Amino acid sequence: MSNFAELGLSRPILRAIEKAGYENPTPIQAQAIPTALNGRDIIGASQTGTGKTAAFALPILSQMVPDEHPQCLILEPTRELAAQVEDQMNLFSYYRPTNVVLIHGGVGYGNQLEGLETNPDVIIATPGRLLDHMSKGTIRLDKIKFLVLDEVDRMLDMGFLPDVRRIIDQCPKERQTLFFSATMPGQIETLANWVLKDPVEIEVGGRRAPADTVSHAFYPVAMDQRDDLLLALVDQTHFDSLMIFTRTKKEADTLAHLVKQSATEANVAVLHSDIRQSDRTKALAGFRSGEFDVIIATDIAARGLDVSGVTHVINYRVPENAEDYVHRIGRTGRAQQEGDAFTILSADEVDFAKAVENYIGQKIERRKLDNFDYIYTALLDDSPPRPIRAKRGGGGGKRRRR
Ligand code: AMP
Repeated sequence: MSNFAELGLSRPILRAIEKAGYENPTPIQAQAIPTALNGRDIIGASQTGTGKTAAFALPILSQMVPDEHPQCLILEPTRELAAQVEDQMNLFSYYRPTNVVLIHGGVGYGNQLEGLETNPDVIIATPGRLLDHMSKGTIRLDKIKFLVLDEVDRMLDMGFLPDVRRIIDQCPKERQTLFFSATMPGQIETLANWVLKDPVEIEVGGRRAPADTVSHAFYPVAMDQRDDLLLALVDQTHFDSLMIFTRTKKEADTLAHLVKQSATEANVAVLHSDIRQSDRTKALAGFRSGEFDVIIATDIAARGLDVSGVTHVINYRVPENAEDYVHRIGRTGRAQQEGDAFTILSADEVDFAKAVENYIGQKIERRKLDNFDYIYTALLDDSPPRPIRAKRGGGGGKRRRR
């Protein structure tokens, strides 16, 4: 199926797609849209950046009816993802005015209560705050016809599955459910069996492989040279926009300080869950607009965030969870653009590195950074550590500024 007009979407939605500048459906859209328009439940797995949001948003908007409030509920694991889905919903409903209300924690209740009083058609929510509203009686789900459970494996990681079950329990049994999860561990399979009716399975591009537009490599280095190697990578890389991932919030703060103090001229923002919601929103908006060219983030930012045009990703550590590797490097190489992802690897992370390679089913290239004074090259050579004399290399090429 090669164009949107053949998929059965309504006229106003087709016009909005044209306005958004989308020419052809992505593979997941080509499969999910006609299936959802036929009223079928879907269980979908696809790489991030494949157009998953439109794959569920377009057929739902096409099928919505007047005077049922709210008739669509979309559950997202994080506030950022919820806000991103809201943007897309608003984009696609340009010619079919739709009242979309965003419900998430970390902000006051005032605006949300005002929004709820306007009879929303669609609620996009994170589980905790939605349950608060449900217990206060400010949201009722008895008119829900369309339920989207997005990034369910992330909800599992964040401990939201019991909340998700309580929410689904309050939705009518007669509904259409679209369920997306990059991986399908036992608990998620059990949930899927409970919420879905005879679902159509859609899997695009393999659950595990990173997008083939991303060139990725490990940069082995001694533990105590990690920071130096990171700064050298930042300095020598010709990036336009760079995401650096860390495991902990503290590490993100420390690295932000380090990068800011270094010779780089980059404007640096930090994104993690201890940062106030308003500052997180500013950091993301600033990164999207180009005000910040580097963002240092924990995994909260890795899943599904739609930041287009990220040219480079650096993992300061190998992710402990192999699947996070794919999510992190998936921030680049989106929508068929090319991207580079570098992962700094130290001896204590060799097992995690192997786990990542097993998970994606590929050996990841080990690279050495030119002009960097490696203390020893054991991890590079795959031979026992042997000290080598540090020598200063010539200056590497400075990165290009926009
Ligand atoms: P998603 O996987 O939903 O996060 O989407 C990733 C990016 O691809 C977003 O920036 C979308 O706006 C963009 N996108 C989605 N579908 C299409 C399409 N059919 N053509 C061009 N861009 C698209």
